[in-house]
Amino acid sequence: MISIAIDGPSGAGKSTISRTVAGKLGYLYVDTGALYRTIGLYVLRNGSDPKNEQQVEALLPKLRINMGYQDGVQQMFLQGENVTDQIRTPEVSMAASGVSAHSCVRTYLLDLQRRLARENNVIMDGRDIGTVVLPDADVKIFLTASSAVRAKRRFDELIAKGQDITYEKVLEDVEKRDYADSHRAISPLKQAEDAVVADTSRMDFEESVALIQKIIADHLKK
Ligand code: C5P
Repeated sequence: MISIAIDGPSGAGKSTISRTVAGKLGYLYVDTGALYRTIGLYVLRNGSDPKNEQQVEALLPKLRINMGYQDGVQQMFLQGENVTDQIRTPEVSMAASGVSAHSCVRTYLLDLQRRLARENNVIMDGRDIGTVVLPDADVKIFLTASSAVRAKRRFDELIAKGQDITYEKVLEDVEKRDYADSHRAISPLKQAEDAVVADTSRMDFEESVALIQKIIADHLKK
């Protein structure tokens, strides 16, 4: 099985680029951020604090999280309910960042992610795929872009979905999450030593997809 790990900060375009490239290669696309988001939503729904490790850990035994695919799009199920759309709000983004700092949550999700990679050719995107989840991935890419560009892209996405938000607030959230994701004690966001860096600040979507395809093709040839 072939595994391709794509890590990077939020809003770098990881999900859309990875999904498109996976479709072209016929690989399974795994958005691991969606797993953390689903746990974040679960914690919020239970009225607990995502940053409080004890509260989060106490909720895990009752958690039922499942993944599926509909027309190639990953769907997330929480306690049997399809929450694919509900996990995309700014509130759930912050909750995901909060729960992702706890080792109980990371351990909980590790087996699930590794099993998917054992059983399928995958493009898996996240923060620690090349460093922790799949250290032996065939190709590792660190996909990034400036925080201003990333905030603008996320802002456009949220506005298109009808959410009432300002660019300044989105930029603030992006920088807050970047800081939290790169400074947490366990599995911080960082580039794997053997990852290829792809900076898409000055590229449009098609150019970014072409770059990622080229990096993958070059590495798989070796
Ligand atoms: O990628 P996305 O923005 O959906 O991820 C939501 C949050 O989940 C991130 O801010 C990060 O804190 C966390 N995450 C993580 N490890 C991953 C994927 C996501 O810690 N592999």
